[in-house]
Amino acid sequence: MTSQATHDQQTDPDTPDVDVIVVGAGMGGIYAVHRLVQSGLTVQGIEGAPSVGGVWHHNSYPGARVDVEGYYYSYFFDPDLYREWKWENRYPTQVELEAYLNAVADKHDVNRHFAFNNWVTEAQWVEHGAYYRVTTDAGLTVTARFLVMATGQLSKPRTPPFEGLEDFEGEWVQTANWPKRPVQLEGRRIAVIGTGSSGVQTVVETAKHADHLYVFQRTPNYSVPAHNGPISDEKHAHYAERVHDTWDSITGSFGGGGFPVGTVKASEMTPEEQQAKLEEHWAWGGQSMVGVFPDQGTDPQTNELVSEFVRKKVREIVRDPELAAKLEPKDYPIGTRRVAVDVGYYEVFNQDNVTLVDLKTEPIERITRTGIRTHSTEYEIDLIVFAVGFEAFLGSLDRAGIRNAEGRRPGDVWQRGPKTYLGLMTRGFPNMFILTGPGSPSVLANMFAGNVQHGDFVTDLLTYMNDHGYRRIEPTVEAQTEWSNHTQEVAKPLLRYGADNYMVHVNQDDQSRFFIPYVGGFNRYIQECQRVASNGYEGFEFK
Ligand code: NAP
Repeated sequence: MTSQATHDQQTDPDTPDVDVIVVGAGMGGIYAVHRLVQSGLTVQGIEGAPSVGGVWHHNSYPGARVDVEGYYYSYFFDPDLYREWKWENRYPTQVELEAYLNAVADKHDVNRHFAFNNWVTEAQWVEHGAYYRVTTDAGLTVTARFLVMATGQLSKPRTPPFEGLEDFEGEWVQTANWPKRPVQLEGRRIAVIGTGSSGVQTVVETAKHADHLYVFQRTPNYSVPAHNGPISDEKHAHYAERVHDTWDSITGSFGGGGFPVGTVKASEMTPEEQQAKLEEHWAWGGQSMVGVFPDQGTDPQTNELVSEFVRKKVREIVRDPELAAKLEPKDYPIGTRRVAVDVGYYEVFNQDNVTLVDLKTEPIERITRTGIRTHSTEYEIDLIVFAVGFEAFLGSLDRAGIRNAEGRRPGDVWQRGPKTYLGLMTRGFPNMFILTGPGSPSVLANMFAGNVQHGDFVTDLLTYMNDHGYRRIEPTVEAQTEWSNHTQEVAKPLLRYGADNYMVHVNQDDQSRFFIPYVGGFNRYIQECQRVASNGYEGFEFK
């Protein structure tokens, strides 16, 4: 805790304790604190965990690793650090990533600005003094002119939604909040519920140890091999020589993921050329399967070509045809949800100790004292692993108890979809910034790059306000409406607009949809932010 923070402060201060409170010490919070401090502002970081890392601290489940190559999924702001840090694997593990984030925080002396083991429980905007009063579960109270929410979009795990969990006499855990004590896998009957990216990764690792593993699948997901492997010295040297070029390629691209994307439409190729192209992307692996053809995100026929190619691979890998049919992803077009990137997912279903439980034919009825009961079967289980996803986008903001002057939470004003200006601010919540928030490229772009770009934008903006003597900022209604409309215009032509998942808000009354992240491209988004800044932060209202 820094000296600026005070405990149990009850009265409104003439001057807030600090200029900025940053909530969260993940990749966004680490960089934001670093940049803000560097620019001369006083900063209090607040983090619930005992150390930095964010999602890469909490998601320490077996098999956890990122689905973007490490030499892209990095900070670039410190070229020396980029050159010095050698990733062990093409796709770094959670262990490597947490160590990396700690190393960055240590090198840039970020930890001393954070109060760790403090979950923010209340963040109240006080209009007459134009500041936030933030309180934590550990009894810390700090006031600040600005609030930067670096709490991530996929950080509040969904509570397991199953009846009877309190009766279960075995052990249960969540991938997104994996315990720091050892969890025994060896010799146990294990259930993994959920087959998104987290479920797929944990299944592969758990299958190596479990006496028996039951994979509870509701919707079969597309999973593509990572072709992971150790990083050679030559590969490291290659990237170490190209720090600036690699950064430019990230900020100049659609998503900054560093994977190859095809430029020739499927309709302009012969069937043989199409298959060759598909094999080429399968061999490269991972997210490259969502960019085989430039029109696969909009043209259902082209998409089906790619989707069916992956299904064919599933049939080739999984020996039992009936089992393969259940694993084949058929419910949505490939790339309209995040593709899982695996190190042998479909292969585990050839193991005798692995059983797929198809929840389409036998839905879960309840958790029992000894396991899981579906419509047709009683499964005896020692350990249940919940990989059922997150309260995306809103969960971490609600958990922090943010309230505006009228006592409303962001969730109260976002009931028909989270409308923001540039994904950074939302009308009605002055002086609050959300890093990689809804309406920015967010989960559709490289999260390191997105967080750094937002950290820079916010720091420059606060410097601008300081220079002009402004104390209060809020987006105008017009700018927010125009930006929200634009985010929907770019999303509507895409197949992913129609796919249900955490990126789409669906209004239950009329089934209208609001696509949450900005899908117009990271490169285009950056240009828009630059234009806004160079026009005197057009669209923001200053006082
Ligand atoms: P997710 O993609 O939301 O997947 C949740 C899974 O739980 C889905 O299979 C879902 O089934 C299932 N599920 C939810 N409620 C259920 C219920 N009541 N009964 C049965 N099944 C249920 O969550 P995630 O796997 O944690 O991944 C979220 C995101 O985090 C990813 O898209 C990715 O962006 C990120 N992530 C990345 C990595 C990586 O970099 N490698 C790793 C993990 C996560 P339905 O599909 O039927 O809803």
